[in-house]
Formats: sequence, structure tokens, C-alpha cells
Amino acid sequence: MLPLGRLVSQFKNQKNLHFAFAFTFSTATNHHDGVKLSPPSPPPIRVALTESAGRGVFATRRIGAGDLVHTAHPLVSHPSLSAIHSVCYLCLRKLAFVTDSQAQSVPFCSEQCGEQAKVFYEVERKVDSSAYDDYCRTRGLKYPLLVRRLACMVISGVASSDCLDILQPARLSDYMILEMEEEFGLLRSAFTKANIMDGQIAFLTKQWYTSVLARIRINAFRIELPGGLYEDLLKSAAASVEAEDAVGNAVYMLPSFYNHDCDPNVHIIWIENANARLKALRDIEAGEELRICYIDASMDRDARQTLLCEGFGFQCCCLRCLSGD
Ligand SMILES: [Zn+2]
Ligand SMILES: [Zn+2]
Repeated sequence: MLPLGRLVSQFKNQKNLHFAFAFTFSTATNHHDGVKLSPPSPPPIRVALTESAGRGVFATRRIGAGDLVHTAHPLVSHPSLSAIHSVCYLCLRKLAFVTDSQAQSVPFCSEQCGEQAKVFYEVERKVDSSAYDDYCRTRGLKYPLLVRRLACMVISGVASSDCLDILQPARLSDYMILEMEEEFGLLRSAFTKANIMDGQIAFLTKQWYTSVLARIRINAFRIELPGGLYEDLLKSAAASVEAEDAVGNAVYMLPSFYNHDCDPNVHIIWIENANARLKALRDIEAGEELRICYIDASMDRDARQTLLCEGFGFQCCCLRCLSGD
């Protein structure tokens, strides 16, 4: 699922928004004969209020078709349950091998990923969340896995409990809240049983859980990676568990601020791992809003409208929809 950002946020009364983003960028450099001549400079964008769709991302200068606008590291990521033994547990890179599904530990693609994940993974290992996992698996839920990982990151001190607060939350039905309460109970008891000190899980309240999950629901990106050498092998391994092509899901900061368009001027892609690349699909002028497509753009108008309304809670009024295409 992708970001919403439709509704005017709590920043309603501010004309321009300047956030200190925790993302990396590697664009705005001049390329001549493949050599980068200038050091990385800030991405050519700013976040500001749109006229009708809350905040959005705007070009601060002309961006050429095919240019890399910026890259983004996930705030939190998690492999699909079907891919746990075939992708890196942190960056979701496809592995050249599939680990034993009975293995007690999870695979990392490199020492660097293992090292980066070490602190929160130690917390994850302490907690027996098999009941929570089973709950997610039988219901086909993927977002609670991101919440659990975030909770472990908060406990281990690598993330703050309010790090997703800036993102737009989904509107929740009473049924969704009831379901979340059940999940929360399973997660909270797993942490309590693991003898993690009360002070360390003080943040883990029902309200925190619901609020984080409401944000993840509409801001998480489903990550599919292009095929690799062992793709067929991985596919058959995954297919035996469940039909799920995605290697995992991840939440980002800046990409979540992009509004939707059924005829987008930017797309978000993943090449080798969960690090996202935002690329211009056509020339974009300074001041123009950058938009991505949250759904499969090849669907017809009615199907797009239904999906956007049910999944993201808004009616699309983009030029393509208005033209009836
Ligand atoms: Zn990795
Ligand atoms: Zn549209």
C-alpha cells in the first residue's frame, strides 16, 4: 500500500513546510561521461501545502525526464513472511540461497546489514512472538510485522516511539480497531513474557499500537524486486508457503508526502533492496507538483476510483480521471 496524504494535516495553517528529513539523496549532480562532477546536493524538491490535497512535494527547479529525484532509506522495513528465509532480514535484498526454514536465525545479506540490525534483532530474538506471527499468517496481515519491528527498534533505542507521527493516519472502522486490539494484546503479552523491563515498554500502549498501525496502513510501500539469478528457485520456495510476490514492506518519510496521480510524473522503484529511488517520468518544471501513482495505472477509471476510495479514502480528481480515461 502507498501513501495517502490527501487530507489537510495538522500543518493546515502553515504556508510552507520545512522538515528536517532523515533521508539520503544522490541527485542533482551533473553527469558528463558518467563522472559525477559535483558532490551530492539537496534534492530539488520541497514539501508544501497543495490547494486541495493536503501537503505535497514540489520541484524547486526543472527536473529532466529520467532524472533521479532522490533516494530514500526505509524508516522501518520487514520481509514478507513467505520471504523470511530468502531475503535479507533488514534491507530485503534477494539472497543467492534460501536458508533452512527451520533455522533459528534469520539471514542478512552482508555484515553491514547484520551489524545495523544487531541491536533491534537482539530484542526480537528475546521475544517469542510466534502467536503474533501465526495470527498475522492466518489472516494474511503484513503491517503488524512492521509495528513489531518498530517496537523492537524503540526498545533498543534506534528509533523513537513518535517517529511516524508526522505521517497521515488511515481512518479506522470500529472493526479495524477491534482487530488491532486483539493483535496488540498478543504483542504486548509477548514482550511482557520476554521479561523486558516495564520502563522499556511503557510506550507500548493500545493507543500507540493503533496510531502506528493506522499510519503504516496507508504509508507502507509493498516492495517487489526485479528478478535475480535465483529468482525461479525463490519463487517456487515462496509459492509453497503462500502466493505473495512482494519481498516485503517498508515505510519511508519523504516518499509518503507524494500525492497520487493516475498519470504520474514520478515513479518509485526498487532495484536491489528496500532503498527506494524516485525518478522523473517526464520533464518537470520548477514549482510543479511531483506525484506518484499509488496503484496499478493500467487499470480502467472505475477500477482505479474504487481502489483509491476503498484503500486510501479519497476520490481521485486527476486530469486523467476527469477526462474519463
Ligand atoms: Zn541486507
Ligand atoms: Zn486519477
